[in-house]
Amino acid sequence: MSKLMTKSRSKRPAKKSPAGKKIKRVYFFGGGRAEGSIQLKDLLGGKGANLADMTNMGLPVPAGFTITTATCKEYNDLGQKLPKGLIEEVNFNLAKLEKISGKKFGDPNNPLLVSCRSGAKVSMPGMMDTVLNIGLNDSVVEGLAKLTGNPRFAYDSYRRLINMYGDTVMGVDHEHFEHELSQVKSAKGVQEDTQLDVEDLKGVVQRYKKVYSDHVGREFPQEPKIQLEGAIKAVFGSWMGDRAIKYRQINDVRGLLGTAVNVQAMVYGNMGDDSATGVAFTRNPSTGENKFFGEFLVNAQGEDVVAGIRTPIDCQEMGTQWSKKSWHELLKIKDTLEKRYKDVQDFEFTIEKGKLYMLQTRTGKRNTVAAVKIAVDMVKERLIDEKTAVLRIDPHSLDQLLHPMFDPNAPRNTIAKGLPASPGAAVGKPAFTANEAHERTQAGEHVILVRKETSPEDVQGMHSAVGILTSTGGMTSHAAVVARGWGKCCVAGAGAIHIDERGRTFSVGGKTFGPGDFISIDGSTGEVIEGQMPTVDPQMSGPFAIIMKWADKYRTLKVRTNADTPNDAQVAREFGAQGIGLCRTEHMFFQPERIHHMREMILATTVEARKIALAKLLPFQREDFAGIFTAMNGLPVTIRLLDPPLHEFLPHEEKEQQALADSLGLSLHQVKTRVSQLHEANPMLGHRGDRLSITYPEILEMQVRAIIEAAVQVKKAGVKVLPEIMIPLAGVKKELEFCKAITVATADAVFAETGAKLPYMYGTMIEIPRAAVTADEMAEVAEFFSFGTNDLTQMTFGFSRDDINSFLPDYLNKEILERDPFQSIDIGGVGQLIRMAVQKGRGTRADLKCGICGEHGGDPKSVIFCHEVGLDYVSCSPYRVPIARLSAAHAALLGESKAKSNGRR
Ligand code: PEP
Ligand code: MG
Repeated sequence: MSKLMTKSRSKRPAKKSPAGKKIKRVYFFGGGRAEGSIQLKDLLGGKGANLADMTNMGLPVPAGFTITTATCKEYNDLGQKLPKGLIEEVNFNLAKLEKISGKKFGDPNNPLLVSCRSGAKVSMPGMMDTVLNIGLNDSVVEGLAKLTGNPRFAYDSYRRLINMYGDTVMGVDHEHFEHELSQVKSAKGVQEDTQLDVEDLKGVVQRYKKVYSDHVGREFPQEPKIQLEGAIKAVFGSWMGDRAIKYRQINDVRGLLGTAVNVQAMVYGNMGDDSATGVAFTRNPSTGENKFFGEFLVNAQGEDVVAGIRTPIDCQEMGTQWSKKSWHELLKIKDTLEKRYKDVQDFEFTIEKGKLYMLQTRTGKRNTVAAVKIAVDMVKERLIDEKTAVLRIDPHSLDQLLHPMFDPNAPRNTIAKGLPASPGAAVGKPAFTANEAHERTQAGEHVILVRKETSPEDVQGMHSAVGILTSTGGMTSHAAVVARGWGKCCVAGAGAIHIDERGRTFSVGGKTFGPGDFISIDGSTGEVIEGQMPTVDPQMSGPFAIIMKWADKYRTLKVRTNADTPNDAQVAREFGAQGIGLCRTEHMFFQPERIHHMREMILATTVEARKIALAKLLPFQREDFAGIFTAMNGLPVTIRLLDPPLHEFLPHEEKEQQALADSLGLSLHQVKTRVSQLHEANPMLGHRGDRLSITYPEILEMQVRAIIEAAVQVKKAGVKVLPEIMIPLAGVKKELEFCKAITVATADAVFAETGAKLPYMYGTMIEIPRAAVTADEMAEVAEFFSFGTNDLTQMTFGFSRDDINSFLPDYLNKEILERDPFQSIDIGGVGQLIRMAVQKGRGTRADLKCGICGEHGGDPKSVIFCHEVGLDYVSCSPYRVPIARLSAAHAALLGESKAKSNGRR
């Protein structure tokens, strides 16, 4: 028995911090009052703070106490040891709990049983540990049987405790317990747990105890306080468990102390047919419809619902099929919760012999379709304002709305139907384990994870898969909740499919599907479809359009797009792009009829021959620019001059080199010689960017001519055109001067030839740290800066943007870097260069236009940074334009509230 656990209960603990202040590690709630409050989420976790709040609101919450997240940190900092004084504090609160409940922990005549659950500030569904029915032992179980007159219930609870304690606290695989249970069921010839009677369950308890002692090496602990101490440690320890760490990485959850532990008096949904347990949302988390949405199971305990073992009943049927009174109570609670929290709540309830208890409430995770609808509806209902609605939508999550759905007009060979657990469309080949899903995805395949049900161990494979399909489980099963949180397409509970995990197949309707067969799943209808379904683009109307309108109203940062074709430009415009921030002209040279002239130009040995080849490319470029200018009528278009090293345009296979030599009347040797001349050890640091224009000014001249001629041409046709000519990779002011002289001369020549004139701008990318450091000088020549943060990151860190993935995982796993700096701006380094360059540049030229066109332009965190440093715009790929617009609104609104709170201070 633990020495600490057996100390006097009544002595109030008085642990002091080093500063002499008493550390309060445990917060009590019960009897209509709580020590904690909704403000203490950091310390009590979301669940603990909400339990305190619900208690203070007078909702029916079983009494209990919360051990703080700071204690979890202490526990892990101490090498997984409980801090001194904690157990005294736990005992003190346990005594309070006994008083309020009128029961005693470990007393067979009147036992108090408790649950022990995790609860971090941010909810991490299913990622950490829970132990229920703590306090049962061989004699308490008998007492409970007598007291409740329900021995079946008592033994069912006991066997669940041994299983959960064994699994969660002592690491005995759940499968071992499951195996014993199925043996007892098959010996009796029954399928459901509920078909076992008390004698069967007594047998299960004996078998479970044996599993426990065989694996642990000692007997299942009979002392309730030892059980509780073990459970507290297990919950704290699970914070640093692999699956919780992985979840935090995937979901970018950082900076938390740990999880709180909530110890609460047990209430039972498995006390008989007048008892039930359920999970509900105050609104539909899939569609956003303002309608109570939940599921419950009669005569069951909470984990039965969440684990998806039995198929639950829709709460809408509770009133007609089970209990009108409970149904009306739930509807009342729904309104109370939404009024209080002004957001959708996801709550757990238990009805014990007709009395309803709230076990927890939290902000309900929802997919983006629902999130957008709910935010807009709540503004209409005057629960929240427009700004709050905009801030409620995670910009990243818009991805779910911006991606294709199955073509509604295409024929569907539906082979099974499950629940529409998380909308979207996924096409892939089945993978039957999470590992398989992960590995095959790494190898470049699109897979759909097909499982009977998923568990938290599967998160990595679930995340890798393009979609998830399960054969059991409901809308609140693990697979459904996790997939919805990620916006990943999921069909759950497709009962008609039979999965043979070992044989790596599933069969349905007489057909068998293996790892090589395509299937499509529709997370919006629950259909499982044979083959590869075609997809169509989503509709950007309804509530989405309203949220975007509000986002545009509050943002100040402009959003442009990176587009190289008139079609991309058009798509981006429809997504709300306010111009083109980067047109990469090299992409225009790869079509068959163009690449040939490009190669001819590269192989030319004289300026004259190069000019002849360039003249053949000019009409193509002019035509493309004219198309883009027309698509962007009235909006600025930044065109970046040729950037990649020339060897990228030449063939490297001998066969192709020979063909090229033949077509140009050259020898194979001549082609090979040029290829090897252009070979560089570090091409990304080599002869590329404006360095090409320094060596071959005629290339720059051709491109500028094409731009200005196209501009003149479309202007004559009535298009409003605003070209911005951009020099890549400059690091020295003189490079800009050299290129500017040719640019101006060429533009003037076109104006003289055509008799037309139009304004254009001349600017540079800032991609080289030297350019950022000398931005004041660069701005003497450049009229705008565009931060090419792909190259700027590469050169600031000295990480190759093409090869970083060989070691980046080590940097992330060892937390040397918080995130991939090529995805999200490294604010401390690259960000500081940007900040400095903007300040220095504008010191020289007050109206210097500044933007960003690296991949970071579509990353929400980076967009917020760009707003803060005063950029005029961000530019990103067309599909990310709405994400950037919403991020820009977040940036403005967050900036506003920061300024307000600074003002108050
Ligand atoms: C950049 O370097 O950030 C950039 C936009 O240019 P590219 O990706 O074409 O090198
Ligand atoms: Mg670049």
